[in-house]
Formats: sequence, C-alpha cells, structure tokens
Amino acid sequence: LAKEAGVAKSQFLATMSHEIRTPMNGVLGMLELIQLEQLPKPIETKVAIAKTSAQSLLGVINDILDFSKVEAGKIELESINFNARDLIGEVAAGQALTAQNKGIEIILDLVALEPSQLSGDPGRIRQVLTNLLSNAVKFTNEGEVVVSASIERIEAQLMLQVSVKDSGIGISKEKQQQLFAPFMQVDASTTREYGGTGLGLAISKQLCELMGGAIAIKSNAGQGSEFIVTMEVLKGDQQERYMPKANINGLSILVVDDNETNRLVISEQLKHWGANVELANNAEHALLICENRVKNNQGMYDIAVLDMQMPGMDGIELCKILKAHADYKHMPLVMMTSIAGLEGAQRYSDAGFQAYFPKPVTTADLISALSVITNSEQHEALPLVTSGYISSLRKAKTIEPAKILLVEDNPINQQVSTLMLKKLNCETVLAENGQRALEELAKHEAGYFQVVLMDCQMPVMDGYDATIAIRKGEAGEQHKAIKIIALTANAMDSDKERCIAAGMNDYLSKPIELDILKDKLEQYF
Ligand code: ADP
Repeated sequence: LAKEAGVAKSQFLATMSHEIRTPMNGVLGMLELIQLEQLPKPIETKVAIAKTSAQSLLGVINDILDFSKVEAGKIELESINFNARDLIGEVAAGQALTAQNKGIEIILDLVALEPSQLSGDPGRIRQVLTNLLSNAVKFTNEGEVVVSASIERIEAQLMLQVSVKDSGIGISKEKQQQLFAPFMQVDASTTREYGGTGLGLAISKQLCELMGGAIAIKSNAGQGSEFIVTMEVLKGDQQERYMPKANINGLSILVVDDNETNRLVISEQLKHWGANVELANNAEHALLICENRVKNNQGMYDIAVLDMQMPGMDGIELCKILKAHADYKHMPLVMMTSIAGLEGAQRYSDAGFQAYFPKPVTTADLISALSVITNSEQHEALPLVTSGYISSLRKAKTIEPAKILLVEDNPINQQVSTLMLKKLNCETVLAENGQRALEELAKHEAGYFQVVLMDCQMPVMDGYDATIAIRKGEAGEQHKAIKIIALTANAMDSDKERCIAAGMNDYLSKPIELDILKDKLEQYF
C-alpha cells in the first residue's frame, strides 16, 4: 500500500509539474524576448526583476518536486563554478521590491566573502537563500533584513556561511523545535496572514545537510530571527571578477544614510578597498562635517554616496544644497535609491548626481558606480548601474537560417517558440498536433525541414505517437530519419527516457531558454 501511495504521489507531482511549467514557459519566454529589445533603462530593470521573480516561481515548482526527491534520496548535487557575490546580490534583488513596498531595507554584508569565486551547487544554494530571505521579508513589518556571508577555511575545504537576520515577528523557543519539519507553519493565524506551504525550511535543512553543512536559528518571539546556514564549497577556478577597476585606494568618501547597519556595511566594504570613509546619519549632519572639513583645510571628499529616503531632508534636497555651494559643488555624488525610485533618473540627473543604483547595494553596483565617477572625464548621460542591466546587455546571436516544423498545441507556447526561433533566424511552420505534423511533413521533400520541435502532450496525437509514426515512414520515406527534438514540460527523468525510447533525437525542458534552444539547434544543423 505504501508503495502504491508513493507511485500515486510521483504521478501527481509529474502532472502538476507539467501543468505549471507550461504557462511558465509563456512567462519566462516572453520576458526573455522583451530583454532582447532596446528598452529604456528603468523598464529594463523591471523586466529583469520580473524575470528573476518568474524564475523563483519556477523554483517553487521545482521545490515541490525536490521535496519528494530528497525524501527518496534522489538529489544529485552539482559541482560548478559560480560567483557567490553575484548569487547573493541576485537573490537580494529578487526580494528588493517586496521589501521596499513594506518599507524595510535589505542590507548585504559581503565583506568577509573571500574568496567569492567558488565551486559547488549554485542552484541549491540559491534555493536555500531565496527561501530564507523571502521568509525574512515576509515575517518582518519594519526595520531591516541583513544578509551577511563569510567563508571559513577548514583544511582544503571551504565552508560558506550565510546569515539572514531580520527584525520581524520572531519565533518562540517552543515553536522552533518543529520549524524544520515539512508542512510546519508556526500557527494557523500566521498562515492566514502570510500564506506559504511550510515546505521551505524543511527543504533548506535537507539541502544544507546534503551539502555538508547545517541550518541553525536564533530567535525570540517579537524580537526578530536569525537563520544561519553553512555549506561546504571549494575554491572556484576563475579569477575574482570584482576587483575594483576604479582605484578606490586612498580616496576619501562620505556616506550619508539614516540606516546605521547600511552605513556600517558600506563603509566596511569601502575601507576594505582602501578608502577613507566618513559617515553621516542625515543630511544636516553631512553638511556639518563638510563645513568642518573646509574649516580645517582638508579639501572636499572625493565622492559622496547619498541615500535617497531619509527623514528630514532627503537625498535630492541635500544634493541641491551641495551643488549650490562654492566649496562643495565639484564633489561627485552617487545616489542610492529604492528600486521603485529608479524611474526618477532624469530628476537625479537634473539635481546633479553622477551615478545612481538601487538598494540593496551589491558590491558590483557600488564598484560600477565608483568607477563611472573615477574613470570618467565628462559624462553625458547619467548611468544606471545595476546587475540586472549588465545581464541584459547580452545579445542573442543568430544561427544558420533554417526551417523548423514546430508541433505544439498550446497557443501561448506556439508564440513563444515561434518568436524565439525568429530571433535565431529560423522560419517556423506550425502544426498543432502530431497528426497535423505528419500531414505537413508528407507535403514536402527530404531536407525541407531541418528539425522538428515536438511537444509531448497534445490532443489527437501526442508527440510520442507522432515520432513513432514518423520513424515508421508514415509521413513519407523521405522523413524517416528527420531530427526530432522533444519539448517536454515534465522535469522527471522518466519523461526524457520516454522521448528517446519513442525515437526522438534529443529533448529540451520547458520553460525553454533562448540560449539553450540555440545551442541545441546548432548541434543538429
Ligand atoms: P512557508 O512557506 O510557510 O514560509 P517555511 O518552511 O519556509 O514555510 O517556514 C515555516 C514557518 O516558519 C513559517 O510559516 C513561519 O511561521 C516560520 N518562519 C520562517 N521564517 C521566519 C522568520 N524569518 N520569522 C518568523 N517566522 C518565520
């Protein structure tokens, strides 16, 4: 009976996975296509965030599959190179909008994350951190969430430690006992207020342990929570990417922010690169220390980094005062703003800022902003510095022009695939099910289509039966050996085996990514 229940569960998961991954293909595919367009920078940032969010939604779906896999001992860890600073920055950026809408700050403290070029399973690490950070934001209504990361050396092994500390509702000691059990939520009213599956921490614990680490919690009801995870990693191959191009060493920098933790973290990072940092906790304080500097003949700061949202005088007002003052007007200014405030580019530029970037401040953003200032002679446009922006600079390369038979029943996915293929310079002929595909093929001579992209589940005739029929010559002798690549919405290994068994040459999992589609097609042209 237990075995039957297990089979039923896998069946259910496979079906759900398929049903959810199909529309996800529409969402992610369209976002990816939008990113290829020339977009105004603020929209670019939003699209990048939408994409990160869609990806984390896909993560949830995979979680559900994962949970049953971990239970069955079927998880295999990867060992690939990744940059932990980028990874944590992206995880934080994915939650930044939610945090800002609630009026809380996410602060990244990555100074002790050395080396940051690591080897391990970035997908799993991202999964754990996304879960902890989204919980922290979810269960905090005011204050801040601080993500700090460090590396500890244990002989040849490195231990990555990440702490996610919030100032939220906290968890009582009794409840902490059961926290890591599956489907556990602290209480029913909390569930109703916040939603969630109660699976996140159970999976996180299992993943940390699989990676040779652990998860721990420090919390008291009403006093916030700190989750600390550790995982074993190795030093990665590539060189550190974010060594400042700008020579920050010896520069004197003024940081103005009302949030104490943020001041500390930014100044630690800047000091780490050799800058002399002074801190001000509001605009008036900033003006006062500037005045003192002039009185003492110390010369002005090389750069000032200003927070936008501060009680009393905000970043723009402070900027206007500084720019109107003979002694301060040449000091370059960098604005830290919320993601929601990114639309104000023109306003910041008009006020006199040289660069601006969104919170939470990632190392990469800070360096880019500073190098823009230290390296530039005169800047025409105000540069927006965000990591999402950098990733969107990637342009899709095209491949040899080709004709593709796309067999797909879902109208949205028909559009996604057709548009992606068009981007890749391919012409698409559409068939809405296996039967139509056979008819379409039969009309043409050998070599007319280079490749058939075949969805698996379709009405009338599915992809498996269509492939078997093609291989038997039912679409004409000339097409018996045509290359067929499956488009499968099921992430289970058994589905891939089934595609190959039916006679397909290869398979792609939905949601389809442009780069992966391109790589795959290139193999068959
Ligand atoms: P869920 O999807 O419900 O958030 P989790 O396993 O991630 O599932 O978390 C289980 C429960 O633990 C949550 O429902 C919440 O009650 C509690 N919890 C998790 N993180 C926090 C936090 N940072 N602060 C307060 N409570 C938390």
